[in-house]
Amino acid sequence: MRAAVFEKVGVPLAIRDLPDPVPGPGEVLLRIERCGICGTDLHYTDGSGATYEPGFIPGHESGAEVVAVGKGVDFLKVGDQVVPHPVSGCGACAECLGGSPFWCRQLRFNMGGFGQYKVSAARACIPLPAGLSLADAAIVEPLTCGLHGVSLAGLRPGAKVLVIGAGPIGLAAVFWARRLGAGRIVVAARSTRSAERAMVMGADTFLEMDEEFPVRLEEALGEAPELILECAGAPGMVARSVDLVRPRGTVMVLGMCFHAETLVPATAALKEVTVKFAVGTLLSEFRVVADTLAAGHLEPLAMVTDTISLAELPETFEALRSPGHQCKVLVDPWR
Ligand SMILES: [Zn+2]
Ligand SMILES: [Zn+2]
Repeated sequence: MRAAVFEKVGVPLAIRDLPDPVPGPGEVLLRIERCGICGTDLHYTDGSGATYEPGFIPGHESGAEVVAVGKGVDFLKVGDQVVPHPVSGCGACAECLGGSPFWCRQLRFNMGGFGQYKVSAARACIPLPAGLSLADAAIVEPLTCGLHGVSLAGLRPGAKVLVIGAGPIGLAAVFWARRLGAGRIVVAARSTRSAERAMVMGADTFLEMDEEFPVRLEEALGEAPELILECAGAPGMVARSVDLVRPRGTVMVLGMCFHAETLVPATAALKEVTVKFAVGTLLSEFRVVADTLAAGHLEPLAMVTDTISLAELPETFEALRSPGHQCKVLVDPWR
């Protein structure tokens, strides 16, 4: 099979011919139909923090079909369509059995979506409902990150919400904040590139983060936001959110930032701000997202701007490190 392999920081992904993987006991072989490129993949290959091992095949946002099953797999069969969870655990501890493998002490990446095939623990596969195409299923994982964050944030129905960042996670957060009962939603980003997409997801107002932004934010909401969903992942954004949120409000940090952040505790204390961080999605949340898309709520597909081949991946992957017109880029490894 062909796959895109990470070799080292500073070198583009390499397209390699590799032997087709073989599923072991409890595993399935998946034929990848599409796999999205995630900001996390870019972070884990730029040397700014945690880094993938050499030889690693990234890609954790795939829609795939089961083409072979290993020994002892009873709930999946050849032909089933699934989304693999980005991590798999031991399968036996309370966290794994409760559907939150992210918190298993034997956490392992279950990635490899930038290849034609991958092996996955069967228990990490979320079967897809009828009516959802495998191409569209590639956005289930980023949408699940948004759902997880909005649900952990404890969104109050009617709440005035600010979403910072209009990349895929910000857009996913808007979509779920709207569906889960937010009042007014303002989306703010460095450029207006994603304004239209944010409105499609359910935002009321889109603002550029320029000097007048704090004033225009209060105009748009009538007061300071009670919930801020920080989805930009840029340095300084947690402190900025603490400044912008209203007293006793909540800042939910979904953006992945590997840089140190300076925060004046007294500023947060004087407002009694709650700051939360989230990343570990649950299997049950994947099912909610897949069911929502399958029911025809396809607005989130607006985040997909491009579908590329494996051959185009290394160059596109490097280009995504700087801001551009693309939002969610999917890889079709059979193109
Ligand atoms: Zn992702
Ligand atoms: Zn476990």
